[in-house]
Amino acid sequence: MIITPLVSKWKNAALDLLFPAYCVACGTIGSWFCAPCLEAVPLRDPACLVCHARNAAGTLCNSCKRHVPNLTRAVWATSYDYTPIHEAIVQFKYSGNRSLASPLASCIVSSIKKRLQVKSMVIPQDAVLLALPLHPQKRRERGFNQSELLARVVADELSLPLLPAFVLQRIRPTPPQAHVRTREERLKNIRGAFAVPKEHYPLVAGKTILLVDDITTTGSTLNDAARALKEAGAKAVWGVVVARG
Ligand SMILES: [Zn+2]
Ligand SMILES: [Zn+2]
Repeated sequence: MIITPLVSKWKNAALDLLFPAYCVACGTIGSWFCAPCLEAVPLRDPACLVCHARNAAGTLCNSCKRHVPNLTRAVWATSYDYTPIHEAIVQFKYSGNRSLASPLASCIVSSIKKRLQVKSMVIPQDAVLLALPLHPQKRRERGFNQSELLARVVADELSLPLLPAFVLQRIRPTPPQAHVRTREERLKNIRGAFAVPKEHYPLVAGKTILLVDDITTTGSTLNDAARALKEAGAKAVWGVVVARG
């Protein structure tokens, strides 16, 4: 059946009437994350991803660096324990509510802007954004890659170039990191999961890559993706995520 744009517009309007958007935090009808609730999301102070020691630049301590040797810094906007964010990520990722990409990405943007404002961080000229890929099988099952949707919004709002998703590939399906307990097991679980095809090395070489994902815990996944990007010649890799779990 061919649905004309007009019919599809009416169909969407009808669906909105039947299933109106409601704020995941306060339930107010009108949008999936209302402006006051978004404003109220507590943005985290920059800290070391591994030990949480506060540090204005959000880089990793020398002693923590050995756990995630390929990441230069990690910027996470907020905590996964904050219920509205938890709820929004669950709906976004597992219920396929793609409308939540924009408010969730805006948390990343606000967090980065706050750091730029106080000059605790500078985005270098060679910076580009890249979404953390899913394994193709997982992407098919989910129908979309949540990180790509987030990266698109962040790229738009910060006016940064976005590298095409094919630059970084997930070559090995891995059990979800949430099922793996210790840091050592997580590192082992994810090792060698990412690769940059040789023909795409020129897109990555000499760049500072801001790697976007929805959630991180120990940073092991970001670190393995960063390893592949560095092998391809990336100058530095930052993890840029909505929430730390
Ligand atoms: Zn609300
Ligand atoms: Zn540390």
